[in-house]
Amino acid sequence: MADEDPAVRTVATHCPYCALQCGTRLTDRNGAVAVRPSAFPVNAGGLCQKGWTAPALLGTRDRLRTPLVRGPGGALAPADWDTALDTVATRLRAIRAAHGADAAAIFGGGGLTNEKAYLLGKFARLALGTSQIDYNGRFCMSSAAAAGLAAFGTDRGLPFPVTDLAAADVVLLAGANPAETMPPLMRHLERPALVVIDPRRTATARRAALHLQPAPGTDLALALGLLHLAVTEGHCDEDHIGRRTTGFDAARRRAMAWWPERVERVTGVPAADQRAAIRLLGGARSAYVLTGRGAEQHSKGADTVAAFINLALALGLPGSAAGGYGCLTGQGNGQGGREHGQKADQLPGYRLITDPAARRHVAGVWGVPPDALPGPGRGAYELLDALGRPEGPRALLVFGSNPVVSAPHAGHVTARLSALDLLVVADFVPSETARLADVVLPTTQWAEEEGTMTSLEGRVLRRRRLRPPPRGARSDLHVLHELAVRLGEPGHRYPTEPRRVFDELRRASRGGPADYSGITYERLEAGEALYWPCPDEADQGRPGRPHPGTPRLFLDRFAHPDGRARFAEVEHRESAETPGGAYPLYATTGRVLAHYQSGAQTRRVPELHEAAPEAFAEMHPDTAARAGLGEGALARVSSPRGSMLARVRLVGSMRTDTVFLPFHFPGAGRANLITGTALDPRSGMPEFKVSSVRVEPVQDG
Ligand code: SF4
Repeated sequence: MADEDPAVRTVATHCPYCALQCGTRLTDRNGAVAVRPSAFPVNAGGLCQKGWTAPALLGTRDRLRTPLVRGPGGALAPADWDTALDTVATRLRAIRAAHGADAAAIFGGGGLTNEKAYLLGKFARLALGTSQIDYNGRFCMSSAAAAGLAAFGTDRGLPFPVTDLAAADVVLLAGANPAETMPPLMRHLERPALVVIDPRRTATARRAALHLQPAPGTDLALALGLLHLAVTEGHCDEDHIGRRTTGFDAARRRAMAWWPERVERVTGVPAADQRAAIRLLGGARSAYVLTGRGAEQHSKGADTVAAFINLALALGLPGSAAGGYGCLTGQGNGQGGREHGQKADQLPGYRLITDPAARRHVAGVWGVPPDALPGPGRGAYELLDALGRPEGPRALLVFGSNPVVSAPHAGHVTARLSALDLLVVADFVPSETARLADVVLPTTQWAEEEGTMTSLEGRVLRRRRLRPPPRGARSDLHVLHELAVRLGEPGHRYPTEPRRVFDELRRASRGGPADYSGITYERLEAGEALYWPCPDEADQGRPGRPHPGTPRLFLDRFAHPDGRARFAEVEHRESAETPGGAYPLYATTGRVLAHYQSGAQTRRVPELHEAAPEAFAEMHPDTAARAGLGEGALARVSSPRGSMLARVRLVGSMRTDTVFLPFHFPGAGRANLITGTALDPRSGMPEFKVSSVRVEPVQDG
């Protein structure tokens, strides 16, 4: 929408960062961009510090404006687009000819628009013919996705609108800290009493009616214990369990072994607090159970989430009009990013790549025979770990991700990236991963492009262009088109116009769990609030009108063929590492208010950099004193895999056995230098939340 003054342009769009996708209005006055929150329901006139400062991204000093190609001397040097694209295509062809199609791989991102995620998946399977594609969302909420799919038959982060939370009596937050990670969400949590499960006394925990502070890696035992108490104290909704679920008896048998005193011994959470929590939840007329990365980023992450879903199902919450279970997805398009074919095992529409009917449908839309589509590939960490090995990919194309900072065991991942024959990074800033690349392709960002995003509540949103990109930057869609053509694909298969890509995505998703076929740019422009599934069919209640989308899932039936939700039979187990010997402390990683993901964007925003300029380690004063450390001292934090450096912050509410490390910082401050590679067997989620470490002083300066 244009203003009357031609020098002033305003668009309604959404924040470039997290999955809440707060609504904003951006105004460009003679090149100066200002942001205001819009009345969009999830943020209702609010933004966090990241949203308020987002326009600074458009003027980032070191914005990439020209492709870079590593020359014979080893340095990255500016090149024109044809040279850069020809270099990539020529080297990809040679690598594939020598080593086969799976020698080329793609690593995508949960911040890419739906259109980019879709075209990236198509490019991988058709232009490269590779099975080797996955994305950084595997590190975000993949274990919640696996547990949600198993329990409900489909996985939408929140199967209800965010605004429903405001009417609840009680909300249980397991491993989520929205007061820092998505502050506007807290507007919807003012009324409910909060029960927060977190080893740290976070900003969210400080607002809670009850804070349960378990040892890292023991949330699963705590969830089993809460189900035990729900049973023994009579809070189970037997009618709901009987009519709408299966598998309760087996889940209950498991939980019966987790009486409160045993749970207290394993988790450290007093039995009285466990009872207080279940009485709050069980006595509520309306309650929600929400999980975040704290519960999910474990080698038993899917089982941990399943245990919280079991609790919610026993209380009769999912599928009711006044309660439910949801996962607070983190990345801006973490939801859409996992629905359109970026995942190693999935095709567009959130279909399994091993499902013959799904393969037939998607291959039909793409105009190829089903057997032209490769099978499932490696999950994100396995893919990164295989790079440059004889049996692994020799070339990697990275879009919208910075694994040098964000992947677990980051030192090892950096070495694997360095072992490649070809590393290509498409990004708009010189991220730490881009600096390792053989070819860097400068792309458009956020307010320079059109597209759609899908928020954590499954609502599809329009991202609108405020102004053109700087000369030299091109959209990822354009990059994929140009590379596909150079690899011998017909150009029409890879449209560069977002609306055309979206129209194809709609057809590819038709009939799948995440059905977008009834969602159009026109309907979104008209202001309709459209949540998937939204099939391309008439509204049953209003003949002649299109399907209205589905804000609330499961009200009548769950998505399994029999319409029932599944309890899971899960058991607690220890984390892959527990403190002891040379590594006597837990380390747990997480986020801070000022930064987003690897920090590649937010570290470039002056106000955000000022707010959190360097890596730090939160620890109890007694923990620090035992290590000979004081406030502000430089500490080396070491695990069996490596060491990182961080400034000590003394926090009296920390457990004395735990150190907290934010993961947004580069270089020697990378928290992921110490994290491990134990993976959840169900989802491929790495165990970011539990490492064993020691801390020691380092000579400063
Ligand atoms: Fe942006 Fe998330 Fe902050 Fe909202 S909460 S302003 S979407 S970073």
